[in-house]
Amino acid sequence: MTEKCRCGDHHAWAAPSPHDRPAAARQPLLATTLAREDRVEDDGGLDPTDRVTCRTHRRWLHDCVASPVHTNPAIGYRWCRRCDHQALVAVDELAGEVTIHCGLCGEIPHSRANRELVELCRRSLALARAARFPETAAA
Ligand SMILES: [Zn+2]
Ligand SMILES: [Zn+2]
Ligand SMILES: [Zn+2]
Repeated sequence: MTEKCRCGDHHAWAAPSPHDRPAAARQPLLATTLAREDRVEDDGGLDPTDRVTCRTHRRWLHDCVASPVHTNPAIGYRWCRRCDHQALVAVDELAGEVTIHCGLCGEIPHSRANRELVELCRRSLALARAARFPETAAA
């Protein structure tokens, strides 16, 4: 669906994105974290919503959280209840900061689901950064 939304944007609802390519092969820590979370999840020890890696995209969560697949109005993930509109997650890879705001009203949607999603993105970003700059992680 590409009909224009009332925020003026065209959202690709659940359409695959060219950014959704698997990245695991190039990143050993991502590959091992993915494998561990897959295993623990299959053993019932981890909820899909507690993962820092994405089973669908085989990437760090912060890396594919912008995909429509990660918008879930039913649970409230990446969603502004007030506007009934999707929220956008902004990832600052340099600062290691993750923020979320509604694409329509621009406010931060303070639901528990959104807070948890941002928290998971911060953790996945921290892991990805640690893998990329091992010397800063050790300090
Ligand atoms: Zn919109
Ligand atoms: Zn994903
Ligand atoms: Zn809103």
